[in-house]
Amino acid sequence: MKVIHSISEMKLQRSHFQSGSVGFVPTMGALHAGHAELLKASKKQNDFTILSIFVNPTQFNNTQDYEKYPLTLEQDTKIAQDFGVDCLWLPNYNDLYPDNYRFKVSENTFSKKLCGAHRPGHFDGVLSVVMKLLNATRPHRAYFGEKDYQQLTLIKDMVRSFFMEVEIVPVPTVREASGLAMSSRNLRLSTAEVNKAAQIYETIKNSNSAKAAQEILIQLGFKVDYVEDIEGRRFVAAFLNEVRLIDNVKI
Ligand code: AMP
Repeated sequence: MKVIHSISEMKLQRSHFQSGSVGFVPTMGALHAGHAELLKASKKQNDFTILSIFVNPTQFNNTQDYEKYPLTLEQDTKIAQDFGVDCLWLPNYNDLYPDNYRFKVSENTFSKKLCGAHRPGHFDGVLSVVMKLLNATRPHRAYFGEKDYQQLTLIKDMVRSFFMEVEIVPVPTVREASGLAMSSRNLRLSTAEVNKAAQIYETIKNSNSAKAAQEILIQLGFKVDYVEDIEGRRFVAAFLNEVRLIDNVKI
């Protein structure tokens, strides 16, 4: 497995993958079984798989959340190797933002709802970094989890809007046995909190309405940003102490 950092190294490496199809899995690291599903799908559908790990500062509206984001690079590198990743790309801020974020990609409708309403600038950061990552890796397919369904939808729409030559492949949410959606942020929870966090999924899945689900979660002690039903899907964001967790289910 090739481990690289700069954009020029990425472009050079990409030129060595001309002979086949390229799958790309962008992540912020602290890899878990959810990320593993994305890697498995890419390995299955492509000749070469590129994995990127970059904790993107422009998508964090909360400095503490950024600073406390878990980093497990040594373990991640081993996982990438075990999954047969061909290229592990570890860019830094200056590699990806030579313009210091002077240019950005914005969407002005769906990105202002749900998480966008509570995290100003979040989706500008997400869309901008994904555009940059896709331009540098030029994959045939890129893999995104349904766990971040609003993000997945916006990325699909961006690719369509800018005529980008990449297929966005959705991957179903991977959950713990308790139902809790796997997330790197779960590493910031105590064992008791991990058990409690499973109530988020149980509640949105079993409630008759978004409003009822929101009331139950508040009673259970969560600080709820939102529970909303949009186009046959129920979306939730709720804090357990200072850790913000999101999930969604088909209804
Ligand atoms: P992250 O490292 O959290 O930015 O996630 C990188 C990619 O993995 C995104 O496309 C996420 O939607 C996806 N992902 C994260 N957690 C899960 C999960 N539990 N199941 C499926 N995909 C996931």
